[in-house]
Amino acid sequence: MKVYKFGGASIQNPERIKNVGKIINAAAPEKLLVVVSAMGKTTNALEKITDAFFEGRLSDAQQLFEQIKNSHLNTLKYLLVTGWEAAENQLKDFFTEVEWMLHDKPVRQYDYYYDQLVCCGELLSSSILAHSLKEQGINATWLDVRDVLRTDDNFRDAGVDWDFTATRIKESVLPLFDDYDVIITQGYIGATDENESTTLGREGSDYTAAIFANLMEAAEVTIWKDVDAVMSADPRKFPEAQIIPALSFTEVIEMAYYGAQVIHPKTIKPLQNKSIPLYVKSFLDPALPGTVISSTSNKKLPPIIVWKENQVLVTFQSKDFSFVEDKPVQQLHRLFEEVRIKPNLSQHTAISLLCCFNDHPEKIGDLAASAAAFFDVVLEKNLSLLTIRHYDDITLKKLTAGKTVLLEQRTVETVQVLMR
Ligand code: ASP
Ligand code: MG
Repeated sequence: MKVYKFGGASIQNPERIKNVGKIINAAAPEKLLVVVSAMGKTTNALEKITDAFFEGRLSDAQQLFEQIKNSHLNTLKYLLVTGWEAAENQLKDFFTEVEWMLHDKPVRQYDYYYDQLVCCGELLSSSILAHSLKEQGINATWLDVRDVLRTDDNFRDAGVDWDFTATRIKESVLPLFDDYDVIITQGYIGATDENESTTLGREGSDYTAAIFANLMEAAEVTIWKDVDAVMSADPRKFPEAQIIPALSFTEVIEMAYYGAQVIHPKTIKPLQNKSIPLYVKSFLDPALPGTVISSTSNKKLPPIIVWKENQVLVTFQSKDFSFVEDKPVQQLHRLFEEVRIKPNLSQHTAISLLCCFNDHPEKIGDLAASAAAFFDVVLEKNLSLLTIRHYDDITLKKLTAGKTVLLEQRTVETVQVLMR
């Protein structure tokens, strides 16, 4: 069997949902487990509803939810002919759950409500897809992943209970393939042992696909995206970006670490542990080969570019010009943890520590204010951080031309340059 994962863009309207049906159909006679995200930007919209609800703006929350209801019902209307009523009934059950919640006042922590509300995006999209597949004549069934994927109650970043989930998959998911060719389920969400919904962190659907693949011993996983393959740079910014046909798991972890938005970083380990290859392919042009990510290392990689705008350089300088030794550095790292921020690059000098962060103005403000008790703090904003894996001199020169370099770090494989 294989695992397919479809992201929000691949199912954002009726046409695209039909296209996904074609891709699924083409996999036959292979058995498929299909993991889907919420349609389009639904997760962002549900986040806004959670905010409104939590801030006591109940009518805003209800109004925003009406929009989500309408867009999903409209999709159904355009998509389905015969199965329309059954599908609508299933959606209405999910709507009711949310509306019921929106009538109450929040008494628990924000993250709890976030997960109870936001999980609805994947429940709706997967139901719509399952009904659509049935109408296209595909022998598919819908699975509520919350009956299978057990997590702890660390809401919004829940940890997976691998043993429980493995048992459930063996007992109640694999046998479904006796009767069905395709199982449709939700990415990104799970449930606790008290049946409270949880989420695995934004963009977590890739991770769900990897969990199922690992526990079902899948032959391979395919993540269907709106790009032709993994590219060596963002093609919108770098027209010379190249397709990378093959990458190793390790390379992808490195790329993600430096900020390349390829695949959710948690996705790799479950696949690497069982040597299950991961394909990244285009749902717009499924005939293209895409990228395969596997245990095999690729010696012929082009320079891979990660470009981050909106960086801020924070210089922490000791007030008495003493060396920045262990203790003050530890103090600073504790502060980073407190404001939940991580440097993208850092460097010591004799009397200071220089750190480059993504510019979250609030967090940076808090950090600067707290650190000012022990250090002189200087900020410089609006910088760019360039990272090149497998760099060569020509690429580095070209991308730094005309800029002032404020900080540079090199290893054999990677160069990072912070520039004004
Ligand atoms: N729908 C969720 C999100 O947008 C999960 C995912 O798409 O992977 O973050
Ligand atoms: Mg998504």
